[in-house]
Amino acid sequence: MVLTRSMAARRTLLALPHDIVVEIAGHIAASSPQPMEDICSLRATCQATHAACKEGAVGRRVALEREHTMRWFEHDRYLALVRNLAGAGNPEACFVLGLTLVFTQGRTGLGTDRLKRAAVAGHKAAAYVLGVLCYTNGETRDDAKRYIRQIEAETAPDGGGVHGHGCKAAMKTNRECIRWRDQAVHAIREVTWRMDREMVPVPVAPPEDEDDGQHCEGSGCGVPDGWNSGCAVFCSEGCRIRHEYFQFFSRVSLPAR
Ligand SMILES: [Zn+2]
Repeated sequence: MVLTRSMAARRTLLALPHDIVVEIAGHIAASSPQPMEDICSLRATCQATHAACKEGAVGRRVALEREHTMRWFEHDRYLALVRNLAGAGNPEACFVLGLTLVFTQGRTGLGTDRLKRAAVAGHKAAAYVLGVLCYTNGETRDDAKRYIRQIEAETAPDGGGVHGHGCKAAMKTNRECIRWRDQAVHAIREVTWRMDREMVPVPVAPPEDEDDGQHCEGSGCGVPDGWNSGCAVFCSEGCRIRHEYFQFFSRVSLPAR
């Protein structure tokens, strides 16, 4: 009997331990330019690959952001995929589902839960959105600062004091915030563009019982640098998160309750 290439591949995959086949399928899910098409082909290859593709470890790694064509031309299928992958803990799917729940349906609690799952997995745009959402509530204001620190890769909270080289330990930049703010706004526009309501941001009032930013110490605090990056240095975490809150909500709006 002549062994074709696909038959040979099938025999090879059947001979491998399940964990290895899952690892191969996960690698394809993460690196393919059309992940779902390749996963469907893989699923149809043999029982071993079919079983592997059902594992959550594969779903978690699917590069959802590469499914542009499905998102624009098979929107219902795309939404079903998002829900499915979010259930498996896929960070991008949790991010998209979280934004959909918060910004199109006003289901902030459920949406925030999904965004948290994405942020825990290192999704920085999700951490950014959580930062500004948490800032709206006095009880979660410390969480807001923590998410912004995660984005800027800082470990120490706002401590005050002075470093050996003379600059204040509390000085904070929003260099990474700018990048992830843009990505978050872009992603929110993608989940809201089909809605009837116009996405016209309304001027936002400062959050209730806000005390951050009221004790600003520097005349240069929050002034953008002259290098076109648009980033600034802030005298404290409070001034920084306040700035981000207003920047973010000047571009997106929450659905009316
Ligand atoms: Zn300040």
